[in-house]
Amino acid sequence: MNEAPAALSVRNLSVHYGGVYAVRDISFDVAAGEAVGVIGANGAGKTSTLKALLGLVPRTVGGLRFGDTDLAKVKAHDMVRHGIGYVPEGRHVFVGLSVEKNLLLGAYCRPWNKATRSRLDEAYDLFPMLRDMRGRLAGALSGGQQQMLAIGRALMSRPRLLLLDEPSMGLSPKLVEDILAVLQRLHREGLSTVLVEQNAKLTFEAASQCLVVENGAVALSGTSQELQHDPRVRKIYLGL
Ligand code: ATP
Repeated sequence: MNEAPAALSVRNLSVHYGGVYAVRDISFDVAAGEAVGVIGANGAGKTSTLKALLGLVPRTVGGLRFGDTDLAKVKAHDMVRHGIGYVPEGRHVFVGLSVEKNLLLGAYCRPWNKATRSRLDEAYDLFPMLRDMRGRLAGALSGGQQQMLAIGRALMSRPRLLLLDEPSMGLSPKLVEDILAVLQRLHREGLSTVLVEQNAKLTFEAASQCLVVENGAVALSGTSQELQHDPRVRKIYLGL
């Protein structure tokens, strides 16, 4: 996909639940600092792809490397220590804990020191409204605010690669714009990202390269610029 050395390299990734394939032989690279989008209709296999990268679902994979690390050998709970951050679909914030405690939990594998403290400040700089709400229960936040909190929490571990699962789901157009601005800022700061979305418009703006998945397989791939004008994308989405 790109001439730069791959930060993440995925080869022949498959997931099957019982006898049914949800993901079949997906391969892609994410170069250092690159944003790659994975789009597709409901049930296409996007979430399963992300969960399979993290080892959260049974998978087979021909190769899975992140820099010098063989991620195929890393347990799901250790992914964060290898620089992989995850923003799950549906946010999964701890509703009974304060905003600040949710953020701090994102840094649980790091010592409480000046660097972690400055990470908290960076999260508040990225999402100023979280600073204003730092003492409030996460369960009292709106869906959009919880999404910001989920992203902020994932950033607390200082990931080098961030995996995001449908961050725009259920959000107003204005909040989708806010999420896009945050993703573009993180990209400018050099973070590598994999963005899984049903919202193709957002993804084409946030990512430089995209995969279009259909029935668990890559139906199309290319630059966002190419794909946003490709009539086959609409066909795959709408089944026309
Ligand atoms: P959505 O946009 O709805 O999240 P998706 O593209 O993320 O969809 P997946 O959630 O990965 O798709 O699902 C891919 C296929 O695998 C679907 O047919 C789904 O019903 C099936 N599937 C997902 N999780 C499981 C599971 N735990 N057990 C059995 N089948 C599953």
